[in-house]
Order: sequence, then structure tokens, then C-alpha cells
Amino acid sequence: MNTLLSTLREILDDRGVITNPVEAEPYLEEWRGRFHGESQIIVRPRDAAEVQAVVKACAAHKTPLVPQGGNTGLCGGAVANADQIILNLERLKQIRDIDPANNTMTVEAGCILAELQTTARNARRFFPLSLAAEGSCQIGGNLATNAGGINVLRYGNARDQVLGLEAVMPSGDLLSDLHGLRKNNTGYDLKQLLIGSEGTLGIITAATLKLYPYPDQSATALVALRNLPASIAFLERAQSGSGGTLCSFELMHRVGLDFAFKHVSGCSDPMTTPHEWYVLLSLQASGDAINVDTLLSAILERALEAGDIHDAVIASSEQQAKSLWKLREGIVEGQRLEGASIKHDVSVPVSKVPEFIETAWAIVAKRVPGIRPCPFGHVGDGNIHFNLSQPPDMDAGAFLSLWEEVNDLVHDHVAGLGGSFSAEHGIGMSKVDEMQRYKDPTGLKVMAAIKKALDPHNLFNPGKIIPAPNADSR
Ligand SMILES: Cc1cc2nc3c(=O)[nH]c(=O)nc-3n(C[C@H](O)[C@H](O)[C@H](O)COP(=O)(O)OP(=O)(O)OC[C@H]3O[C@@H](n4cnc5c(N)ncnc54)[C@H](O)[C@@H]3O)c2cc1C
Repeated sequence: MNTLLSTLREILDDRGVITNPVEAEPYLEEWRGRFHGESQIIVRPRDAAEVQAVVKACAAHKTPLVPQGGNTGLCGGAVANADQIILNLERLKQIRDIDPANNTMTVEAGCILAELQTTARNARRFFPLSLAAEGSCQIGGNLATNAGGINVLRYGNARDQVLGLEAVMPSGDLLSDLHGLRKNNTGYDLKQLLIGSEGTLGIITAATLKLYPYPDQSATALVALRNLPASIAFLERAQSGSGGTLCSFELMHRVGLDFAFKHVSGCSDPMTTPHEWYVLLSLQASGDAINVDTLLSAILERALEAGDIHDAVIASSEQQAKSLWKLREGIVEGQRLEGASIKHDVSVPVSKVPEFIETAWAIVAKRVPGIRPCPFGHVGDGNIHFNLSQPPDMDAGAFLSLWEEVNDLVHDHVAGLGGSFSAEHGIGMSKVDEMQRYKDPTGLKVMAAIKKALDPHNLFNPGKIIPAPNADSR
């Protein structure tokens, strides 16, 4: 390690290599606190050429690298062992180009997602990727995990926002495929192979991203549903009545909202009566051909008449819309402060969301009496965060010791409905076993073959997505 460290110091400037344990700590801490990194060297290159030089130096010393963005991932993907080096992209922050007429921007991997949204807005354009970690996560991390978020219903996942990509491959070569073309059928689509590969196949250094007209109109409402199955009828109504302007459709159970009301300042119930199930929905449009306020009112009126919903609060200002979104975001923080929780990020066909939740609820309640399910999520995409809070009188450690057993119960049920055990957060190190258990065996073989072909010495994020050689399998 010492010879490699000297080489890295030659490649990078003073701020480019961190070995001091106090300075290293933020790069080792994982957001959920489930894993703690042990890496003793963190490198922070400034551009793609420095990334290439670091990769070549590490390859020469057969030392594994763990790419890291904003470190907000929820599966331990950016966590490194003592014999691995973390390569953080935070200093690759250039906006290389913005082309409003082509509706594209070319940006470096370390740009913070929220800053890119602002960059687009300043050019009267919209970059739709949006998630609660957007103030910290980096676009490179978003692409490496194929992040989802609250606007997938209308705009798709992170992978749908990319036209071109630049990445450093395990060989140290630069894959330079940055372009703003919407049509480009020239063989294998390598960018799509790298997107969602969680740093196991290449280190993303830049991307050309799609932009959209800036939505100057937006309408948001919190709705109390008649019951859970009514969420699907209401979704259909909102989709058909919104003229393609429906962006977000987020389901929330009262348990999660109660946690937010109890623990998160600024969160309070905007309705006079409590209900069991809620949906937060947003419509957005640009120009004045469509009026989203009128569309939203009509959707709600018809849903009330049909009995799909019991009550609704329409935001009358941007501030009120933010307060309603704060309830949705407050669920995560509220649940954290309510004690230990076991989490699932699953997807099922949209039509099966109610069946999934009702049956999964019964399954976990039977196994852990007193458990408090707090399901919420992007129901318009069939993606539910089926998060479970501990029974109030149970020891947190005893509850967390059931994590894998409860995961298996829920994931078996998801598989039975034709769903996925990982909707948007990825695999990292926390779901490698699930990959082996639920993924198509041929798919696993193809993945292993691709990994071997591109990274024969297993130096890029080893042990993530694909089990490390010799790893125990259950
Ligand atoms: C409060 C909160 C809310 C969240 N909400 C959502 C949500 O709604 N939807 C969603 O999809 N996710 C969500 N997440 C998860 C997380 O924010 C996303 O996975 C995000 O895309 C990770 O970006 P990051 O820069 O933090 O990546 P990191 O956590 O640093 O890394 C994640 C993975 O990507 C790899 N990686 C990072 N950068 C690169 C790169 N440049 N090249 C190659 N590999 C790289 C890492 O090795 C690791 O495997 C949420 C997280 C939090 C904390």
C-alpha cells in the first residue's frame, strides 16, 4: 500500500489524497448506519485524466477501488474494506456545456443533483430527476444506481435522462461517448450497460443529459383515499384526466404521517379528520395551452363523486405545495426517530400494489406481533417502500436481528406477484444474496461474464451486485 500511496500522491494534488482518519470519517459513514467503511485511503481526483491515472496505478498494484458519489446510497454500495481505496468524484464539478436548443447539458459526475436542477432552470429548462437526497447525491451516483424518485411516472428513471456518457473503464481507458443525439444506432448501447452497474464496470466521469421545457405551471394536492384499492382507480382517473401532465403520485399510510407529525417540525395534518390512506399528487405543464389547476380540480371533483376519495387539500401557493411535500419527506425522518426499522424497496405491477401491501402487512404482523408497517412510495411506478417500525415495547436490537428473515418473507411475496426486491435503490452489498435467490440464473451468468470480461481482476467495487469469489452463499 505504501508504494501505491506515494504514486497516488504524485498523481494528485495535496487535497486529492486523504489518509487522516478524522478527515476520512465522512467517506466511511454510510447513510443508514448499517455498514461502516474501513478504507484508509480516499482519493479525490479533479478530472477524468486523474481518474484514469488513479485507476491505472491501482490496477498495477492489484488494489480494488470503490467509486463514491454523495454517499447517500441505501445499499452499502459505496462502502469500502480496509484493503480497498475510495475514489470520490466530488471534485469533478464542471458543467461542460449547456445547449438549450438541443435540450441537453453535459456535466461532470460530481455535480450535485439539486445544483443541476438549478443549472437547467437558469436556462429556462427542466431536469426532472428528483429525490429527497438531491441536496447531497451526485449525478454520477444517480446514474450508477439508475435512481428513480418522484417524477418517474412522467419522465422515467435516471437511465431515461441520458444521451451520452464518459467513463473510465477498469483497464484505465476512457470510454468517450458524450453526445447529445436522440438517434444513434451504432452497435451496443454501452452507456446503458454502465448505468445501474453501481461502479462495478466503470467509473462515470461525465454525462450528457436530456432537458425539458421548464414547467411554469404546477398544481399539487393531498388526497385522503376511500381505501387502499381506491388508489389504483384514482391513479387511472388522474392519468386519463391530466392530459399527460401527471408527474408524481405518492401513496402514504397514516402511520408514517403520524411519525412525521410527531417528530418533524413543520409537519402537521392539513385535514380536519384522520384517514388511513393518502395520495400526494402533482401536475406540471409549461406554456398556457393547458391549465393544471383546472385539470386537478376536475380530477378531484370526479373522484369525490365516484367515492374514490374522501377529502382533498389543494395547495394554493408554492409554499403550501412545499409544506405538503414536506409531509412526504418527513415520513423517513419521523420513522427514524420512532425507533428501529426494517426496510424494503420493492416493486410490483401497479395493479397489484393493494394486494401486495395488504398481504405483506398480514405476513409481517403474524411474524412480529405489534410491528408497525409504514408503507409509502411511488405507487404510480408500482414502487413501495414497505418499511416496518419496531413494536414500541420491543428491544431495537432484537427487532433488527429479524432483518433478513423479514426481508425473505416480504421478498418471497413480491416474487410471487412478479415483482422486484429492488425497485430503485440498487443492490450494493446489502442485497447480493437476494440477487442469487431471485434473479434469473441465465441473467446472473451473463452478468458474471460481462464483469469478468471488463474487470478480469475484480478491482472495481468487488463484492457489490455480484458476490466476491469464494464468498459464502446461503
Ligand atoms: C433521504 C434519502 C432519500 C432517497 N430517495 C431516493 C429515491 O427517491 N429514489 C432513489 O432511487 N434513491 C433514493 N435514495 C438513494 C440515493 O440517494 C440514490 O441511490 C442516489 O442515486 C445515490 O447517489 P450518490 O451520489 O449518493 O451515490 P453513492 O451513495 O456515493 O454511491 C452509490 C453507488 O454508486 C456508485 N457510484 C457513485 N458514483 C459513481 C460514479 N461516478 N461512477 C460509478 N459508480 C459510482 C457507488 O460505488 C455505489 O455503488 C435516497 C437516499 C436518501 C438518503
